[in-house]
Amino acid sequence: MFDSLSDKLDKALHVLKGHGSITEVNVAETLKEVRRALLDADVNFKTAKEFTSTVKEKALGQNVLTTLQPGQLMVKLVKDELTALMGGETAEMDLSGAPGIILMSGLQGSGKTTFSGKLANYLKTKKSKKPLLVACDIYRPAAINQLHVVGDQVGVEVYSEPDNKNPVSIAQNAIAHAKQNGHNIVIIDTAGRLAVDEEMMAEIAEVHAAIKPNETLFVVDAMTGQDAVNTAKAFNERLDFEGVVLTKLDGDTRGGAAISIKSVVDKPIKFIGTGEKMDAIDVFHPARMADRILG
Ligand code: GDP
Repeated sequence: MFDSLSDKLDKALHVLKGHGSITEVNVAETLKEVRRALLDADVNFKTAKEFTSTVKEKALGQNVLTTLQPGQLMVKLVKDELTALMGGETAEMDLSGAPGIILMSGLQGSGKTTFSGKLANYLKTKKSKKPLLVACDIYRPAAINQLHVVGDQVGVEVYSEPDNKNPVSIAQNAIAHAKQNGHNIVIIDTAGRLAVDEEMMAEIAEVHAAIKPNETLFVVDAMTGQDAVNTAKAFNERLDFEGVVLTKLDGDTRGGAAISIKSVVDKPIKFIGTGEKMDAIDVFHPARMADRILG
């Protein structure tokens, strides 16, 4: 997935693997390479700096210089720290309530509508839920149609009111509809813009305040690297979301967003999107991702 980063980290750490004993200079040089690899992968500058100084501290604290296999220990320390950086544990979803409510947010084109369909499919097939998808984009009729197409693909009902221009009332009506029809999860797809603007944030904040969702998920395109991190930051300052959905990871060759987003906004990545098809969704596991990066 992040082949170039994996290669560079492997090369950086490989130098130590061959040594029976190493010096503080070896450690410093290796970590400089690790830092360079992270920066090349478009990891946030501050994140990369803190990462390497933490690993260095731990390495010296654990007497890496006198251990029998210093290379192995360094690989383990880097892996553990990468896992911690990406959130440590897998973040659970709160699906409680009758119905549980999930509000999707994010910029236009981030993959929100596609992901709403994937999530509905995942909750239906893997968690035995009966979801209702809700089209709350009042600006683009095409977005409403797109959600209907996605809903048809996964066999999940889609609620929309094409003539209603009030997203709060659409969301409230949808929740009432869900209660009447035995849907135990409501997934609300909201309008996105091309950039974070006041109007969009005010609108989603209003929907959020009115329906009090269990989870607000922020959807962002992993391929945009540091822009993804910056957008997450801007959203986070206005809307208290519970988790991040990183889409298009299949097309992300670098990995910067996946690695730095948690440390910058302090919100866990909950899901990843790995393709355009409705089953291209995975729960995000930090340790598994660290394993994939380090091989
Ligand atoms: P929205 O405007 O945020 O609702 O974005 P869409 O759901 O319409 O997605 C925008 C484009 O990204 C569409 O062409 C999707 O097929 C594509 N897309 C969404 N998620 C993924 C993903 O995980 N991987 C890939 N390769 N493409 C994706």
